[in-house]
Amino acid sequence: MRRPASKKKPVVKKKVSKALPPLHGVIVIIDPGHGGTDPGASVGGVTEAMLTYRMAATLAEVVKKLGAEVHFTVRSAALRRKPIEPPKLSQPEGKKTLKELSRAPEPPLLAPRDAVLASGRRLDMGNDVPEFLHARAEIGARFWKRRKPHVVFLSLHFDVSKGSPSDHGGFTMWDIREDHPPMLVREITRRFGEAGLCGNRHKQPRPNDLGVTNPEFNPVPQKTLVELATLTNAADHKNALDPRWRWRVARILAASIVACKKAKVI
Ligand SMILES: [Zn+2]
Repeated sequence: MRRPASKKKPVVKKKVSKALPPLHGVIVIIDPGHGGTDPGASVGGVTEAMLTYRMAATLAEVVKKLGAEVHFTVRSAALRRKPIEPPKLSQPEGKKTLKELSRAPEPPLLAPRDAVLASGRRLDMGNDVPEFLHARAEIGARFWKRRKPHVVFLSLHFDVSKGSPSDHGGFTMWDIREDHPPMLVREITRRFGEAGLCGNRHKQPRPNDLGVTNPEFNPVPQKTLVELATLTNAADHKNALDPRWRWRVARILAASIVACKKAKVI
């Protein structure tokens, strides 16, 4: 008896047309400034730490959607709360979808007093302790070893101005020990300028001696410390509390990371 011919189905090649998300394979390390016993700057009952942790959680949501892997330099309940994107401002109330209207509002801002370093050590020694800043920087080193060159490091802060209350806007900084500002810093600065977010502060990236970007501890080339706005300015203070502003800024930061990926520097 002849064996029946095996019923081999013709192999149909599936069309794989789905492009990978823009930040696929990239590790984004987000360093929310301050936390624990260090609230950072404080204006009108709002602390810098409350704002940096929420901005960190928002940026994490945005870059995760673009395919990135996110790691924070610290742990806190304030980072575990998922920020919810508010409906677009341009959308009139009547035109909102049911989904948008029923969307829960952002959870209230939390003071991250519970913040601990990745090692589990509490941030309990007050302001800008070099040891703690270097421990944050070392998270950069850890992931750099694992996935170089596909790593970026962003430290998020809000500034206060000792000058005039009309001083407003944000700016980027790069480590003074490096030869020149990294592409990530230039991209964020350019986009901040285009979006009117530099205000009257620094339109060029500023070199500075920063614990978290010190290359001795943090070897990630594409790293920056961003002062997102100036809290002593009334309009900036109001913006910093506005989830819509926060999501907009998070998208600008994310677009800057995407530009670095396109240019193959990460
Ligand atoms: Zn700060």
